[in-house]
Amino acid sequence: MSVFDHPEFDHHEAVHFIEDAASGLNCIIALHSTALGPAAGGCRRWQYANSTEALTDVLRLSRGMTYKNAIAGLPLGGGKAVIMARDEAPKSRELFHAFGRAVHSLDGTYITAEDVGIAVGDMQVVREITPYVTGVSEQSRLVGGDPSPWTALGVFNGMAASAEHVFGTRELKGLRVAIQGVGHVGYQLCKLLHAAGAELIVADVSRDNLRRVTDEFGATAVGIESILGVDCDILSPCALGNVINQQSIPGIKAKIVAGAANNQLGRDADGKLLRDAGILLAPDYVINAGGIIAVAREYVGGATEQVVREEIDQIAKRLSAIYARSDESNESTNVVADRVAESIVREAKKTDSRRIA
Ligand code: NAD
Repeated sequence: MSVFDHPEFDHHEAVHFIEDAASGLNCIIALHSTALGPAAGGCRRWQYANSTEALTDVLRLSRGMTYKNAIAGLPLGGGKAVIMARDEAPKSRELFHAFGRAVHSLDGTYITAEDVGIAVGDMQVVREITPYVTGVSEQSRLVGGDPSPWTALGVFNGMAASAEHVFGTRELKGLRVAIQGVGHVGYQLCKLLHAAGAELIVADVSRDNLRRVTDEFGATAVGIESILGVDCDILSPCALGNVINQQSIPGIKAKIVAGAANNQLGRDADGKLLRDAGILLAPDYVINAGGIIAVAREYVGGATEQVVREEIDQIAKRLSAIYARSDESNESTNVVADRVAESIVREAKKTDSRRIA
């Protein structure tokens, strides 16, 4: 099948396939849109079953980045990279240097950062080759480095806005929150929720990650097969995508779905299934924008933590506005969010005036 005929192809501006035999790098970089600025979005390293699966992932994720950056008010377009993890090509300096050369060859039209399977140290190796990378600096007072605490802060604030809409109070104390995946973001989210007095129910395939949150925050661990249907107020997918779908929705007991994972819905139509079931969905790319806000400010330079905190505070306000419009129009929240994002990108295409590169 040609890329143009792929069901997830959405008029992406460019899709690059990169192979570097010496390091074993196999990677795809997709630039969905540069209408608002350079296409920004993290690099994911994942064990895909085949290259078609990797292509599906990068096409969906890069489109999501266009929408995420647009709604977050950033002067950035949307892009994403996926590295196909293979046993014969483990993480190495050579591999990340080859990836850095690929990013550099795009001449600043794509800016990379961390995503699942990539650590700050990996991006620091990429930085040795190209300046078109962020999420790398560890300076004090100025923002930089690991985006996940910022993503978690945005999700936490977004949960409060969602609770206000459903329960009439932003107070999370005493609410039962079920978190699927307690890795980088999930751990930080547990920390914030525990401090706020929420009750935590968690699941993860990693025993070490699970133990960290049961020991530190008194979270209750359940099996990965039961977390989505657990009795709770808020369900927070923080592992991988496609978990909220026709199969899982009938079993969801939560009144709110609000998590960090990208592409949580199996299909766009699953947003309506949630709405019909009386479950409020915080659209993923709206609630999980805290990390990209932080790394975008790091890339531009000079932003303090205070500035980034203020920008991340806007996430809760944007969600409340989306919820109000969804109630007015009786459309699902993901449909409303898509429309807002699309209109921002359309306007930018008309004026073409918001570039930072
Ligand atoms: P991570 O890899 O650190 O954490 C994911 C966790 O999920 C791991 O602990 C993993 O063991 C667990 N997991 C994997 N499969 C699972 C399953 N079937 N059931 C339960 N747990 C499972 O990744 P992360 O950086 O925390 O990101 C989590 C999600 O949030 C991803 O979808 C990512 O794309 C998205 N996201 C992350 C950021 C960020 O700042 N890191 C920003 C925006 C979106």
